[in-house]
Amino acid sequence: MSRINLLDLLPSEMEDLAVETGASRYRGRQLATWIFRKGVVDLDAMSDLPKDFRTTLAARAEIRPPEVERVTPSLDGSRKLVFRLEDGGRVSAVLMPDEDRLTLCLSTQVGCGFGCAFCLTGTMGLDRNLNVGEIVGQLLAANALSPDQRVTHMVFMGMGEPLANYAALTKAIRIFTDARLGFGYSPRRITVSTVGLVPAIERLGREDLKVNLAISLHAATDAIRGRLMPINRSFDLATLMAALKRYPLAPRQSIFFEYVLLDEVNDTQDDARELARLLRGVRAKVNLIPFNDWETSTFRRPPLPRILAFQKVLMNAGVTTTVRWSKGEDIGAACGQLRELIPA
Ligand code: SAH
Ligand code: SF4
Repeated sequence: MSRINLLDLLPSEMEDLAVETGASRYRGRQLATWIFRKGVVDLDAMSDLPKDFRTTLAARAEIRPPEVERVTPSLDGSRKLVFRLEDGGRVSAVLMPDEDRLTLCLSTQVGCGFGCAFCLTGTMGLDRNLNVGEIVGQLLAANALSPDQRVTHMVFMGMGEPLANYAALTKAIRIFTDARLGFGYSPRRITVSTVGLVPAIERLGREDLKVNLAISLHAATDAIRGRLMPINRSFDLATLMAALKRYPLAPRQSIFFEYVLLDEVNDTQDDARELARLLRGVRAKVNLIPFNDWETSTFRRPPLPRILAFQKVLMNAGVTTTVRWSKGEDIGAACGQLRELIPA
């Protein structure tokens, strides 16, 4: 029988495991503190754990973070971490510094099965879901890279569709936000981005997680969205927007809407007006993402004046809108550029 990976466990499950091995719950709490608070992933380095507990524990469990295969720095200060998984699959996470913030963009799946037309990850198809330890391991590895600055914010905007890996995603978030023995991140510093899986959005709204929600919208009409995003054929805009209007938000919380700007596809001022109309009645913040190019893609980024004109229409309609220039474009780490096949 293969040993339990401790990175797959909640702190409370580590307490249970300690009891199962004949120790006290306190030993489980120490274990969680070493891993999540101190970032220590070597049982032998946990100096205040009794030797016999470590020995019985090691017979049943181990700590297996995903292997960091390489770290690629970008000219803009961001860094891409490529992980090699146990079955040989690869995913990446991207660290993006911005003033006093350090944001980590996390992956949740190897590949993605949703096939959005403008997304490189989408061309891979889905290989498999990441498990909890592989998600948590991305944060541990990122924090280990820069001991002087810990990750302050997390966005689930890397490879894969987070809500299609619901159980692992929500468990990882519980570990990240557990204030008692987990990493202790505020849920408001965590954002989950989704292609628009309505039943999973509704389920997320019923949890007590309180993380931010970002919706990959990318078009304001079913005709355009349906061409870009196959998911729109299962959950159209009316269904999606109705679910979002019911989504529980904290007093000053908004829903983020991502809109990739594609030259002559969804970037006219009429498109912007349609978008403003669609967002009426929702507390919304729009992130415009100028398209990031990849080989063989048929899309192009619109010229800057068109991007700014689109933003202006939304701003004039009272919608908070920022243009998000992706980080790490030069190292294939920008939004929609993640595909790790063969190491360079
Ligand atoms: N699967 C989730 C999480 C990925 S987030 C989702 O789609 O929301 C990555 C964001 O980058 C999404 O909004 C995605 O639509 C966008 N994106 C994908 N390809 C892109 C590209 N080539 N240029 C700019 N943004 C892109
Ligand atoms: Fe998957 Fe998101 Fe890319 Fe669509 S945009 S293919 S959902 S990763």
